[in-house]
This record gives sequence, C-alpha cells and structure tokens, in this order.
Amino acid sequence: MSERSFVIDPRDWITQPFTTCPFCSEEQFGLLMVSRHGYVKRCRGCMKDEQFSLPVIEKRVLYLDQFAVSNLMKVLHPEHRYRIERRGDAEERFWLDLFDRLERLVKLQVLVCPHSDAHWEESLLAPQHEELRRMYEHLAGDVRFEDPGMVKRGQVLRVFEAWLDPGADRGPVPRRNVLAGNTDGWHDKLQVEARLDLDPGTAEALRAARAGRHDGLGRAAKVWRENPRRGFEAYFRAEVAAYGEAELQAYAKRLQAFMDVLDARRQLDADLVFATDSQILIMQMRERLVERGVPHEEQIGKLREFFASDAMVQIPFLRIGAGMFAALAVKNSLQQAGDPNRGMVTDINVVSTYLPYCDAMFVDSECADLLADADRELNLGYRAEVFSNRSREELLHWLAGIEESIPPDHVDLVAQVYGKTWLRAFREIFATAQS
Ligand SMILES: [Zn+2]
Repeated sequence: MSERSFVIDPRDWITQPFTTCPFCSEEQFGLLMVSRHGYVKRCRGCMKDEQFSLPVIEKRVLYLDQFAVSNLMKVLHPEHRYRIERRGDAEERFWLDLFDRLERLVKLQVLVCPHSDAHWEESLLAPQHEELRRMYEHLAGDVRFEDPGMVKRGQVLRVFEAWLDPGADRGPVPRRNVLAGNTDGWHDKLQVEARLDLDPGTAEALRAARAGRHDGLGRAAKVWRENPRRGFEAYFRAEVAAYGEAELQAYAKRLQAFMDVLDARRQLDADLVFATDSQILIMQMRERLVERGVPHEEQIGKLREFFASDAMVQIPFLRIGAGMFAALAVKNSLQQAGDPNRGMVTDINVVSTYLPYCDAMFVDSECADLLADADRELNLGYRAEVFSNRSREELLHWLAGIEESIPPDHVDLVAQVYGKTWLRAFREIFATAQS
C-alpha cells in the first residue's frame, strides 16, 4: 500500500465557465456536471448549486473503421505523425481536417462515433493499443455498440418469433437496444477513462482467432476461384443456408463437451465456463419453442425447418453479410480478387451487424465495394451513407452538412454550458500522454 494520500478540494470539480452566482453574487458560479438532459452549476464561494434542464437532442451515429481510428491517432501523435506526413500534404490535411470536424460535432452534441469490440480487438493486436484506444474513446465518449453476438441474437430471435407466430412480430431491433451509453443525451465534461488490464493470453487468443477466421476465408476464396462459376444468387443462398447448420453444429459440439465432463472424459475448463454465442442463441430459440408447447424431441427439427425457411433472408446481419460474401465469391470466381486481407472477416462482420443502426459508416474501400455489389443485387434498403477512402471528400461534405443544419442558438447553448474554449479542437490529445 502506498503511504501517499491526496486531499481533494471539492471546489476543483467546479470548472469554467464562471458566471455571477445568483446566491452570493460572486463571479464564481461554475459548471459542476452535465447529465443526460441537464446540468448543474455550483458556486466556488458559497457552494450553493442550481440545476438547469437541457433540450432533448438526437445525434447522428457514424461508425469509424479501425483504419480511420489508426490514421487519426497517427496524425496527432508526436511519435507517429511522420507516418502520415511522408504520405504527403493532402493526406495530412485530410486526417487533421477530419479530426477537427468530428471532434467539433461530437462536442456540439450532434454526432457520436461509437466504439465496438472490433476496435478493441484490432487495437489490442497493434503495438500502440493504448493510443488507439484513447483515440476511439475520445470520439465515442461512453457510447459503444453492444457485442456483435448479442446484436445478431436479437435479430434472429425477432425473425424467429415472427416465423412461429406472425402476430408476435415485434419489428426490427431498435437502435437503443444496440447502443450502450449516453447516445442521445448531453455529455459530461469529463471523460472517465477505465483502463482494462490485459491478461497476456488475451492478445494471443485474439490473434489466433483472427488468424483462424482469415484462414477460413482464404480456403473459401480458393474454392470460389477453382470451382465452376456460379451466379450471385447461388452464392448468396449457399451462405444463408450455411448459417443455421453452423450454429446447430457449434451447439451440438458444446453439448458433447458437457456430456464428456459428466462422463469424466474431460475436465471442466475455463473454455466451458462461458457460454458461446451459438450456445446462447440455440438455448434462447429452444425457450421460445418450450413457451409454445413444442416437445423436447421436436425442437431441433423445428429449428432446422426455420433455418431452411425463406424467413432467414429477413435477418438483417445475415442478409447483408451473406450478400457481401456472395459479392466476394463472384469476384473470386471471375478471378478479379486478390487474397483477402487480414481484417476482411472482421470488417464484413462489423458492417453487416451495425449498418442498420448507423447514419454513416467510414469503411475500407474493398468492404464498401462488396456492400455496394450486395446492395445492387439485394436492394438492402439501409439508410446509412457509406464512405470509404475513395469518397473522403463526400464524408467531409456530409459532416459539413450536419454543421450547417445546427441552429445558431444551439451553438450558443453549448458555449454557455461548457464554456467558450470547449469547441476548440483538442489536437494536443497525445501531447500530455507521453509515458
Ligand atoms: Zn455563491
């Protein structure tokens, strides 16, 4: 235990902007905190406080792919800036401009760039993972996408319930179920950074899982290239059909592992303690069948019937994801695709899972192409704008459009609450973070 102790002066929590105190008339009435729909000012002199309400706001949701997070970090970091600079002035200007605009809109409370498990995982594999995390958390505040397994399960269960009983259709999974944190509220002035202490095995396990997914895609690409060409529709149907069977097999494998533990053929290890996504999904689907009186021995058959049904293409992530893989299959069958890059499976997973809940996504060019191909074939009907490195100017334009739509009195209100210097771009984000 450390012998050091700290004396915290409660006045330190009261920050600018300071105005005249309505209680003691001193110019010491500062900001204590901002909450979802209001803020509290307290006087540094008499310590009395007053609460004010803030109008309801609705923020645009922009998803930034890891490549964007990485470039934004590099362009601002004293030790990594040269990596952007050597790509030329235009490159440096773009990333600085993007940072300034994103940060300003985030601080104006009209935009949020949620982080996701994909950011965390991809950052962990990079040497500068703390810096990358600081970057995405800075633009996300406390808003993050729920893990993809949970979002996908929500989508599957809704379509499954509607298939079992059309009267039970609850419609698509709403955005509030998919985003955690203060999405549509005002942000507090302070961001509390929680550091996750990593167990050294975690990065290794993630790296292995990623390599496994990559190898799987590599094998699929080889099959697409070497076998007789099929059309988009055939590849799409095959991808959709493969999904349910893969979930059932993963579930069956899991049950077998538990049987082995019961029969003392296997030890109960850490791997078995946490339920897998497939395990939770199939168990939740079986619960729906139990509620409807389907006997135990008929349940798996009923699930197979659902997985083979036309209803499957209504599951958003499956429709989008299978469409993107089918587009990749077409490219490979035409010998127009190189070897898939390392992050491809993660990218397709992120886009297919989160696209319906975004107003815009800034993704890798190859990924944007696959999505555009899938959309042409399937008419996916998403409302999000999709930007890539090739449409950078359009992204800046989109952000400028948001800025232009903000009423002047909203900008005044932000300055009144957080102070006049609040909106200045915080390009020094890494200047004090040297350690
Ligand atoms: Zn006072």
